[in-house]
Amino acid sequence: MAITEIYHTMLFHVLFITLWSCAITSAQTFDYVIVGGGPAGLTVANRLTENSSITVAVIEAGTFPEDVLGNVTQVPGYVGELSSGPEVFDTNIEWGFMTTPQPSKNGTSVIYPRAKTWGGCTSINSMAYARSAIGAYQFWADTVDDQSFTYDNLVSYYKKSMNFTPPDNETRFANTTPSYHVSSTAEGGPLAVSYPSYGTAFSTWVAKGMAALGLPQTFSAIDGILSGSGYLLLTVNHPNGHRASAETQFLRPYLDRPNLFLFNETLAQRIIFNGEKVATGVEVTTASTTYTISAAKEVILSAGVFQSPQLLMVSGVGPAATLEEYDIDVVADRPGVGQGMDDHLFVPVVYPVNLENIAVVTEDVIDEFNNEAIGALTTTGSDYVAFERIPTSLQANWSVETTEFVSSLPADWPTSQYLILPGALAGTPETDIVYSTLMPALIAPQSRGNVSISSSSMSDPPLINPNWLATTADQELILATVKRARQFMTSEAMSGVVIGEELAPGPSVQTDAELLKYIRETFVYMCHAHSTNKMGNSSNPMAVVDTTGKVYGVENLRVIDASIFPFLLPGPAPQTHIYMLAEKLADDIKNDN
Ligand SMILES: Cc1cc2nc3c(=O)[nH]c(=O)nc-3n(C[C@H](O)[C@H](O)[C@H](O)COP(=O)(O)OP(=O)(O)OC[C@H]3O[C@@H](n4cnc5c(N)ncnc54)[C@H](O)[C@@H]3O)c2cc1C
Repeated sequence: MAITEIYHTMLFHVLFITLWSCAITSAQTFDYVIVGGGPAGLTVANRLTENSSITVAVIEAGTFPEDVLGNVTQVPGYVGELSSGPEVFDTNIEWGFMTTPQPSKNGTSVIYPRAKTWGGCTSINSMAYARSAIGAYQFWADTVDDQSFTYDNLVSYYKKSMNFTPPDNETRFANTTPSYHVSSTAEGGPLAVSYPSYGTAFSTWVAKGMAALGLPQTFSAIDGILSGSGYLLLTVNHPNGHRASAETQFLRPYLDRPNLFLFNETLAQRIIFNGEKVATGVEVTTASTTYTISAAKEVILSAGVFQSPQLLMVSGVGPAATLEEYDIDVVADRPGVGQGMDDHLFVPVVYPVNLENIAVVTEDVIDEFNNEAIGALTTTGSDYVAFERIPTSLQANWSVETTEFVSSLPADWPTSQYLILPGALAGTPETDIVYSTLMPALIAPQSRGNVSISSSSMSDPPLINPNWLATTADQELILATVKRARQFMTSEAMSGVVIGEELAPGPSVQTDAELLKYIRETFVYMCHAHSTNKMGNSSNPMAVVDTTGKVYGVENLRVIDASIFPFLLPGPAPQTHIYMLAEKLADDIKNDN
C-alpha cells in the first residue's frame, strides 16, 4: 500500500473510533482496561485479545501518528525531525514536557520528548534494537528475587515478538556486512527487525578505528553480550524499509479483532477504587466529556515512565506526604512511586570528514526509497556502535567512589557506549564541509532522579527531575568516555577519513575542567528514562509492583511499561526490553485468569 493510501485509511479509522468513543458517556465494562497505547500497552492488548472471549479496552491520549505527521514517522531517514525541534514539539503528537531546573544544565529546564500517539515513543524513536548483557539480567533476577529474569529465561520472550529478516548484503556496501548468530534470531513475531539496506561509509572507518584500539567487530546486538563493536539492528519492515512501531506491528494488523476496543484521543484522569481498594475502572475524558470505563478483571497502566507514576499518585497510590499536599485521599502509601528515575546520556564529539553528506535528501534519494527501499533514507545513520569497560589507562585519576561504583556492577556491564552519527551534532559547521559525530555515552549512570505531581489533575504535566550527572562517579565516567572517543577519532586507522581539527569539543578544550564544562553544556539525554515504579519483592518498602506488575497495597491493578524495571539495562535499545517484558507479563496475566 502506498504511503498516501495508508494515510487516508488511517484518517477514516481515526474519525470512526473518535466518533464511536465520543458516543460512550455511560459506563462500559471490558475484561481489561489498559491505559496507554505505547509498546507495553499494545503488546499486552495484542496478546490478551488473541483469546476472542476476552475483551480489552485501550485508552490513548493521542491519535494515529500518520494523522498528525503524514509519512514522516515511517521513513527511518527522517528520524531527526521527530525527536526534537519546535515543529514536532508544537504538534499534538508530543506531550511537551519540560524537566524541573537541572543543576547539570546550569539550572535550566529542558525539553524531555515523550510521544502522545498510538505506538507511544516507538512511533518517534530512533528504532535501535538490541538486547542487554547476561550479567545485567542476572543482577535483575537477584535484585527482585525472581530467577525468571535471567537471560536464559527471558530469551524466549525476546524471540516471541521478533520477526527477523537477514541483511540484504546486495544493497549494502561490501564492507558493511553485519555479523550475527542465526540462533539468536527468530521469525514469525509481530515486530519486524532487520539491518537497513544501507550501511554508512562513516561506519566502515569507525569500525577500523575501534578495532585498532581493541574493540573489533564482534558485537551482534542480540547475543546477551555487550562488548566489542558492530552494526546495529533497527525495528524496520522488510522489504519496504518503513518504521516498525508498536502501532504498525501490534495494532494496525489487528484492528478488526471484535474484542479490541480503542479509545482514541482520550485522557485517563484517575483509577477508580472501591472501598476494598480494588481497581474497578478508569475515569477518562474524550473531548470535553468525562465518563468511566470499567474493568471486570484488571486495570493495567502502560502510560510510560512519567505518567504511570503520575496516574498512580493522582489516584491515591504513592508517597502519603505528596498525596496529602494535594488533598488526594490515600488509598495506599507507597513511597517508591515516582522514585529512582534512571537515564542514559551522551556527548557529541565531532570531526570534519572526507565523506559524502548523506543528510542531503535529493529527489533521487526519495525515489530510491519509495521505489526500491534502498539508499540513505532506509537508515537513521546511527548504524555502528561499540561497548567497553573504560581501559585502566583512563582510570588513573578516578576517585575511590568511582572505582567502587564500577566494581559493584556485574562484570559484563559496560561503562561506555560509542554510537556514530554521520553529520554534525554540535557546533556551527560551515556548509561546504562534511562532519561526522561519535556519541560517547554513559550507560552505567549512578545518579537517580524522580517524578512527582504538581496538582491532583492529569491535565497538568508531571514534575520530571532526571538529576543527571549528580554524582562524582557519573562525571568521571563520562569524562573518561569522551576522552576515549577522542582516541578513536584521532587514531591512525581513521586518519584516512578525518581531515581536520576537531569541531567539538574543539582543540581549546583540554583540561578535565574544560571538558566537564563542555559535557554539561552539550550532553544529550537519550530519552531512555526508566524505573519510576520499580518492581521488587514484598519486603522491599520502595517496591511499587511485584514481578508480575501487580501494584502492592491494592487489588486488580498492574503497571506494565518502562517504569517497572528495577533499573535501566545497559545498551542502546530499551524498547527491546519493554516489548519483551510486556510479552512475559501478558503470559502472567493469562495464567492468573
Ligand atoms: C526521541 C526518542 C528516541 C528513542 N530512541 C530509542 C531507540 O532508538 N531504541 C530504543 O529501544 N528506545 C528508544 N527510545 C525509548 C523508547 O521508545 C521508550 O523507552 C519506550 O517507547 C517506552 O515505552 P512505554 O510503553 O513504557 O511508554 P511510551 O512509549 O511512552 O507509551 C506510553 C503511551 O501512554 C500514553 N499515555 C500517557 N498518559 C496517558 C493518559 N493519562 N491517558 C491516555 N494515554 C496516556 C502516551 O500518549 C503514550 O502513547 C527513544 C525514545 C524517544 C522519545
